[in-house]
Amino acid sequence: MKITDNLNRIRNEITTAEKQFNRPAASVSLLAVSKTRTVDEIMVAVSIGQQHFGENYCQEAVKKIETINDPNLIWHFIGPIQSNKTRDIAKHFNWVHTVDRIKIARRLDEMRPDEFPPLNICIQINTSGESSKSGITLDDVDDFLEALKPFKRLKIRGLMSLPAPSNGFDEQRQSFSTLNKKFQTLKLSNPEFDTLSIGTTQDMVAAIAEGATIVRIGTALFGPRDTGKPPV
Ligand SMILES: *Cc1c(COP(=O)(O)O)cnc(C)c1O
Repeated sequence: MKITDNLNRIRNEITTAEKQFNRPAASVSLLAVSKTRTVDEIMVAVSIGQQHFGENYCQEAVKKIETINDPNLIWHFIGPIQSNKTRDIAKHFNWVHTVDRIKIARRLDEMRPDEFPPLNICIQINTSGESSKSGITLDDVDDFLEALKPFKRLKIRGLMSLPAPSNGFDEQRQSFSTLNKKFQTLKLSNPEFDTLSIGTTQDMVAAIAEGATIVRIGTALFGPRDTGKPPV
């Protein structure tokens, strides 16, 4: 089975990169990006122990989460957040990686059900300048963190970034390096900071070299996406 082979290969690549770049064993966790994938495809990965899944489209994700209905799985929202989706996101997900507006954070905080543990949050950083509209700049992180303090239903775990694609390893590493430095500094004053969510199929190894604790892998695991749009 292709997905099984892919998953085993990616696990080996992560282990190899951890060794190569002096990262502790098992310090990098694999988030399987399952946007546009079917429940059956997800279940293949679940059957060999994959626990963390990332989704970008709220409606598509909620359908799959409810169909699969497995309390052992951990669901991460990694897409752009529309404010009319915050209720569903706060109710169905364990993590949100793409928080870059206080208004959205406030809504997630208000809408996180009281009986659930706090929602795990990463702040999305724009490391590619003008070329991407999502994410705040590194200069704004300190103020942003301060503004998140009142939200008791959110647990701020760290930083996330999706840099513009680049092919060279050194170039990939460069943009992650700046982010990692800021992350390491913030960790000193924020005891709950333990997550650097960087690295996709094309730049996973560079991300591990620069301190990734979560890599978000879709294509290498499930194969190329046809349309980039969710199945109807
Ligand atoms: C789709 C997506 C990924 C996975 O990208 P691949 O190149 O398929 O591994 C990772 N992060 C985010 C935010 C995504 O939207």
